[in-house]
Amino acid sequence: MLDKLGRNINYIRVSLTEKCNLRCIYCMPRDMCVEDNKDYLENEDINKVLKAASILGVKKVRFTGGEPLIVKDIEKIISETSTLANIDDIAITTNGMLLADMAKSLKRSGLKRVNVSLDTLNKDKFKFITQRGSLDRVENAINQCLSLNLELKINTVLINGINDDEVEDLIKLTKNLPITLRFIELMPIGEGEKFYKNGLITSAEIIKRYGELKPINSLDKGVAQLYKLPNSIGKVGFISPISCKFCHNCNRVRLSCKGLIKPCLHSKDEIDLKPYLNNDLGLVSVLRDSIYNKPKEHTLVSDAESMSKKLMYQIGG
Ligand code: SAM
Ligand code: SF4
Repeated sequence: MLDKLGRNINYIRVSLTEKCNLRCIYCMPRDMCVEDNKDYLENEDINKVLKAASILGVKKVRFTGGEPLIVKDIEKIISETSTLANIDDIAITTNGMLLADMAKSLKRSGLKRVNVSLDTLNKDKFKFITQRGSLDRVENAINQCLSLNLELKINTVLINGINDDEVEDLIKLTKNLPITLRFIELMPIGEGEKFYKNGLITSAEIIKRYGELKPINSLDKGVAQLYKLPNSIGKVGFISPISCKFCHNCNRVRLSCKGLIKPCLHSKDEIDLKPYLNNDLGLVSVLRDSIYNKPKEHTLVSDAESMSKKLMYQIGG
C-alpha cells in the first residue's frame, strides 16, 4: 500500500528475538545477558501479522534479530509465511554461525535469499569483532548457500582503524563469486556510538579510494547504490544511511519480537499490535494506519543520533 507520502510499502522486516550468539563490538555489550522473554509473539501471532501485512500489499518478508537462526522453529515460521498469498520473497539476515547446517532445510521451507553479516576475512579480527564467533563457520555457510543457489548478500560494517584495511580484499570477493557485497555505514546506535566519532567511514570515501569500481545503473531495492569491478561476477553495494539518506525511497516497516510495529528504524514511533491479535479486521486496520503514517525521514544525519528507543539487536537493522 502507499503511505501518505506516496511511498509503496511492500516489505516487512521481522525481528524474531533480541538474543544473539555473538556480541559484535558495535552492537551488543560483551557481558550482556538477554533474558528469555515471555512477551515475545507466538509463532501463530507472527503469522497473523504477516497475513494482515500481505493483505495490505506486503510482498517481501525478512527475518532478522538478534540472531534469527537461534529461534526454535525458524523453518516452520518460514514455511508458514511462504503459504501466505502475495508473499513472494522470504529472506533472512544472519551472522552465519548456524547457517551451514541449516541452509538446506531453510531453503526447503521457502527461504529465497540470505544476507550474511561479515566484517572481516581475518580469523583473529573476526574473534575480536564478534567477541565469540568463528570465521570458519561463516565461510562454510557462505559456500553452502552458494552451492544451494540461494541468493547471497554479504553485509559489512566498516570501522576506521579496525577493518578499513580489508576493503580491497572484501571487494575482490565479488570478482569470482555471484554475491553482492554491501558496505553499511556505521550508525551511532547502542555500542555503535562508542566507535562512531572516529570510526565512521562514509560510502563516498570508499568509492573515491577504489576508482576501479564503476557504478551500475540500478539501485538495490532503493537502498544500496550498486557498483562493479570490471569483469566481475558479483556486485558491490553501498548502504549510506548517514551520508545519503534513502528515506524518500523507503519501502519497509519493522515488526519487533514483542509485537511492536516500527514504521521507521530511527523514529521513536512504535505501535503495539498485541491488543489486536485476536481481531483480524482490527489488526489490518491498525497496521494500515501505521503504514500510512510512516515518518517522512530520520534525523541520524542532522543530530548524529537515532531517535529510536530500540537498539540494533532489538530491531534487527
Ligand atoms: N544477527 C544478525 C546479523 O548480524 O546479521 C541480524 C541482526 S544484526 C542487528 C543486523 C545488521 O545490523 C548486521 O549486519 C549488523 O552488522 C548491523 N549493525 C548492528 N549494529 C550496527 C551499527 N551500530 N551500525 C550499522 N550496522 C549495525
Ligand atoms: Fe548479534 Fe548481529 Fe548484533 Fe552481531 S550484529 S551482536 S550478530 S545481533
